[in-house]
Amino acid sequence: MAVSMEKLVSLCKRRGFVFPSSEIYGGFAAVYDYGPLGVELVNNIKAAWWKAMVQMRDDIVGLDSAIFMHPKIWEASGHVGGFADPLTECKSCHTRHLVDHLLEDIGITADEKMSVEEINALLVDNMKKLHCPKCGNSDFTSVKKFNLLVSSNLGNFTGDMEKEPVYLRGETCQGIYVNFPNVLQSSRRRLPFGIAQIGKAFRNEITARQFVIRTREFEQMEMQYFLHPVAEMEEYEKLRRARWQYYLDLGIKPENLKWHKHEKLVFYAKEAYDIEYNFPFGFWELEGIHARGDYDLSQHAKCSGVDLSYTDPVTGEKYLPHIIESSVGVGRTLLAVLTDAYCEEEVEGETRVVLKLSKALAPIKVAVLPLSKKEELQNPAKKLATQLRRHWMVDYDETQSIGKRYRRQDEVGTPYCITFDFDSLTDGAVTVRDRDTMAQERIKIEEVEAYLTQRLNR
Ligand code: ATP
Repeated sequence: MAVSMEKLVSLCKRRGFVFPSSEIYGGFAAVYDYGPLGVELVNNIKAAWWKAMVQMRDDIVGLDSAIFMHPKIWEASGHVGGFADPLTECKSCHTRHLVDHLLEDIGITADEKMSVEEINALLVDNMKKLHCPKCGNSDFTSVKKFNLLVSSNLGNFTGDMEKEPVYLRGETCQGIYVNFPNVLQSSRRRLPFGIAQIGKAFRNEITARQFVIRTREFEQMEMQYFLHPVAEMEEYEKLRRARWQYYLDLGIKPENLKWHKHEKLVFYAKEAYDIEYNFPFGFWELEGIHARGDYDLSQHAKCSGVDLSYTDPVTGEKYLPHIIESSVGVGRTLLAVLTDAYCEEEVEGETRVVLKLSKALAPIKVAVLPLSKKEELQNPAKKLATQLRRHWMVDYDETQSIGKRYRRQDEVGTPYCITFDFDSLTDGAVTVRDRDTMAQERIKIEEVEAYLTQRLNR
């Protein structure tokens, strides 16, 4: 049975994966903090993405561009003029809603590319069928567009912020586009090649939706691939296949993934697909994979006055590279892998909650559990934990019964538990328990490291 959102949110809070931001001050809407296990999982997700996207490819390099960028970048990208959500207000309780979400609840798709007038017409036509999620009223104000860019007062010493605000980046890829000539020259690349980046992005999202799915501060993992126009669609198909395979390699069940093809494309786009994941509330965008034509570089060339075209060193052909991209949120990936891994099993009349996370993603790889708090067991168990910490995140736990300790580790997805018992003192061996099968094996202490290396470092 699929796990409910309530169970996941509660597990995330209780076990230190995700906390609401600024909780002791009453919280801060649509912002979340990652706790001790959350930060491990996030780091493992980012490492898996980086490995697949950069380390395993000889045609993609990394970048870490700054969050603050020249304000003109956001004009060139179209964000200042067009990065806006359609908003309406309930006339009864004055709560603001995203119009596309209200329409979606009654089965109507308002495409993000529609004009305010088109969306407003849909709202007016369906007004009687729509209900405010807060008070149930069916009367709404006409649609307004609300810009999502978050502005700052960086470098603003005159207080005249309105003139030219510096924005916090709304997406990481703009830092990639504007560094195209730097990366091209410094890494002596030829087309096609890609630039990958992981970093924070900020959006003034009007409505907070579904936990870490839609937050105002979030992390993106993006890769922009620069190529010759004739290669665009073939490489796009290759990228789509690679991205699907990446999720299978993360251990995600294929039945929980599906493609969503964008029917209404922005004018410059050649093709756009999302990979959707079957979250507890239904399928929702996890990643966007888009063929963007030459829009990004032509905009930046036009607005900066810098020629961003590429000259093929062999043929001498000069052209503006086209771009295909892959863009996914870290938070959405975290929620997808937790949803996918969550299991409840009946074991000896009790419910065992277990996160069957892939070994690469599991926040803690090994737990060392002495059977008793007696020093004669504590000391060698701690020694073994210290030895294993050189390779993996290790938890040492000596409180409560061994059964409860196993359950605690199962619930956070620890693949292996090592129990140090009184026999260990004489036979020099420990019991290694597998999270998924619960099978236990007796392993010589000096062989534990090799045993785990074989199973964890594959
Ligand atoms: P949605 O419409 O579902 O909010 P989007 O189409 O605006 O997403 P993109 O701008 O294409 O998203 O961003 C690429 C990826 O970044 C998304 O697929 C998602 O994984 C992630 N993402 C975008 N906005 C947010 C957000 N507010 N909070 C968390 N993750 C986000």
